[in-house]
Amino acid sequence: MAEVISRNIGPIILLGPPGAGKGTQAKRIAERYGIPQVSTGDILRENVQRGTELGMQARSIMARGDLVPDYLVCDMVALRLRNADCKRGFILDGFPRTPAQAGWLDAFLEHEFFDNAPRSKCLPIVIRIDVDYNKLLRRITGRRSCPVCGRIYNVYSQPPRVADRCDVDGSSLVTREDDREEVIRDRLAAYELQTKPVAEYYARKGRLVSVDGDLPVNEVTEQIFRVIEGQRGVTAGTTDG
Ligand code: ADP
Ligand code: AMP
Repeated sequence: MAEVISRNIGPIILLGPPGAGKGTQAKRIAERYGIPQVSTGDILRENVQRGTELGMQARSIMARGDLVPDYLVCDMVALRLRNADCKRGFILDGFPRTPAQAGWLDAFLEHEFFDNAPRSKCLPIVIRIDVDYNKLLRRITGRRSCPVCGRIYNVYSQPPRVADRCDVDGSSLVTREDDREEVIRDRLAAYELQTKPVAEYYARKGRLVSVDGDLPVNEVTEQIFRVIEGQRGVTAGTTDG
């Protein structure tokens, strides 16, 4: 990975409706900067699969497309962000999803991450991926993912080389349970009602940057890299911490 940049990147927050491309872009950011993707949806699905206490509480809520209560998600995020791999930075994908979560995150970052670093370096970079509402349904119904490596495909726009098989490891691709049309409508409604105000929260603080998510994947990635490198003053090859 010649392009990995080893400097501190700090928190990056990806906002946008379900199907906007947050997971797709988070994986590319993670690879370029060598920082982890923290997807609350992935962590919750893993808990559901393992049948943990949290998974049992979240299961039916997720199945109907509603949001899991803030206190459960915030505790889960705190645990994840305290992991050593987040010290140089991390990409939040799917969090914060309510203004209360955004307020909680600000307080958490203030207390747990700013102790020894200049504050300006650790303020989150907040990027909203804007996509035409009418495209979202097709993006979500066409989504397939690899249960082994997590790579995301789309039967319409990003098909695997061999139908239903992961390009990387050959596993059978799966469709998420909540990517059914009847649930998607409720997820989009939850976004409109509960998550859109999160962008306004960051806009009021002058931190919100929008990118055009209607463009092809590579072009969206280029816009995002430009934002990150503009705000953090890094370019490929930078190695100082
Ligand atoms: P999110 O994490 O925001 O829900 P994903 O990254 O899972 O979104 O992307 C949703 C679907 O749209 C996936 O099937 C993905 O392959 C596809 N996709 C992502 N970005 C683009 C894009 N720029 N153009 C076309 N399809 C895209
Ligand atoms: P995602 O993978 O981001 O589309 O999330 C899938 C589902 O997990 C959502 O529809 C919610 O039920 C739940 N979820 C994920 N992130 C959050 C969050 N930050 N707050 C509440 N619920 C969440």
